[in-house]
Amino acid sequence: MKPTRAQLDELLKIVAATEAREIDCEEFLARVCPVLDALEPGQEVPPELGLISQHLEVCGECREEFDALVDLRLQGGDES
Ligand SMILES: [Zn+2]
Repeated sequence: MKPTRAQLDELLKIVAATEAREIDCEEFLARVCPVLDALEPGQEVPPELGLISQHLEVCGECREEFDALVDLRLQGGDES
């Protein structure tokens, strides 16, 4: 699916806002868990996710980790 112009603008804004600061894998995982925990289905994405999605763009390992975490949540896993 092709992103719309508005979505692109939104993405560029996120990139611009986070450009000055990148997170590493350790920080990514530290941030992604509470964010996923707090996120309800259909809920608006919190600002922290800018940094997280930025890391997803550049790090395949964390991308896989993130997908696995999302899958777990979609399955309704509640082990916490
Ligand atoms: Zn990473």
